[in-house]
Amino acid sequence: MSDESGLSIDKLREYLENEGIHTSYHRLKILEYLRNHRTHPTVERIHKELSREIPTLSKTTVYNTLKLFVREGIVSELTIEEKEVRYDADTKPHAHFKCIECGGVYDIALESPLFEHEMIEGHKIAECHIYLKGVCNDCSKMPKNKRS
Ligand SMILES: [Zn+2]
Ligand SMILES: [Zn+2]
Repeated sequence: MSDESGLSIDKLREYLENEGIHTSYHRLKILEYLRNHRTHPTVERIHKELSREIPTLSKTTVYNTLKLFVREGIVSELTIEEKEVRYDADTKPHAHFKCIECGGVYDIALESPLFEHEMIEGHKIAECHIYLKGVCNDCSKMPKNKRS
C-alpha cells in the first residue's frame, strides 16, 4: 500500500468487482485518484492530473466513468455550484463546506437527522446533500489583501 488512506490497485480492483463493475485500467486509475485526493475534484482536474501519467485518457472517459461510479453508488456527485460538479469517493453521510475566498470544498462531519430519513411525507429519499458556504479556517486567518 502506497499510503495509509489509499487502497492498492489490487484492492480497488477487488472492490469494483464486488460492486459488479467491470474493471479497466482507466477506471481503476480514476477511482484511485479520487480515493487519494479528498479535495472533491472536478472532471477537469481529474483529467488534467491523470493525463500526465496516461496521455491517452480522454475527458469523455473520465466523465463517463464518474457517471458510472455515481450510478453504482460508489462515488457521490456534488453540485454545490451550478457550473462546477465535483466528485467524492466518500459516500458516507457528511456535509460539505465551500469557501467563497479560496474555492476549496471541505468535508464537514456533521451529524444531522436529515441524513437518517428514508421517507419524508411519502417521498422516498435517494440522496441527501447538505452544503454550507462561507470563509474557511485558513482564509479567515489571512488578512483580506493577502488572500488569493
Ligand atoms: Zn478558503
Ligand atoms: Zn466529501
